[in-house]
Amino acid sequence: MGRLSDRVIMITGAANGQGASEARMAAAEGALVVVTDVADDAGRSVADEVGGVYVHLDVSSEDEWRSAVDAAVARFGTIDGLVNNAGIHQSTSLLRADHEMFRRMIDINLTGTYLGMAIVAPIMRQAERGSIVNISSISGLSGFGSPGYVASKWGVRGMTKSAAGELGRYGIRVNSVHPGPIETEMLTVLGSERIDQLTKMVPLGRTAAPEEVARVVLFLLSDEASYVTGAEVVVDGGMIAT
Ligand code: NAD
Repeated sequence: MGRLSDRVIMITGAANGQGASEARMAAAEGALVVVTDVADDAGRSVADEVGGVYVHLDVSSEDEWRSAVDAAVARFGTIDGLVNNAGIHQSTSLLRADHEMFRRMIDINLTGTYLGMAIVAPIMRQAERGSIVNISSISGLSGFGSPGYVASKWGVRGMTKSAAGELGRYGIRVNSVHPGPIETEMLTVLGSERIDQLTKMVPLGRTAAPEEVARVVLFLLSDEASYVTGAEVVVDGGMIAT
């Protein structure tokens, strides 16, 4: 018996990075995985690899959320777990203001997470169980990062607690995960000089592999976390604690 045997787990932004790692780990624990992303070729290849299905989903679109959730339910009958993982990061600032990029980070990182919870929760309510894991960041616990990214990730953290309060009575748990520097495309585009600077801020003295976040997500999706809701789990090598 796997830790997610026969559970239907939908993951956004699962074509690459942490989402792909979460898809692989969930499948290895027996889950039926719905891989979603806007990067269709990479997404299909992850879905093939894990024996799941791929559905195109731009998380900032309510229409696409509705069709993706309909497709998942048509295929598997329900959704037991949702990982709102899709996200973008841009290093803008107030003095080099890019209003459009601010809006885009809010649309994808924050509104995308809201839409996912709002559209999947009624299905979980019917089943009287479910686990939603929202990927925030250490930028959701501090002012570390650009205004749009920080605002979106604080918003994800706050909404997680609001959702946990509303949905707990239906057996639905909602938690947020707060990664530090994780070795994915989002980090590598910063360049080696910036990555070295970030690594110096981490007490464990290194960046992390995406699997190190995926293991925490797996725990929160599973029944091992049966009494964990409204929590924020920091996976940052101690960066924000110091
Ligand atoms: P990544 O760039 O490797 O993966 C992000 C995925 O999201 C990609 O597959 C991309 O195609 C997808 N995506 C982008 N826009 C989308 C949209 N509109 N709809 C659906 N999918 C979309 O980065 P990652 O590190 O795997 O990021 C996963 C999550 O972790 C993000 O929410 C990110 O903000 C968060 N995070 C990352 C780090 C880090 O250091 N890598 C740190 C803290 C938090």
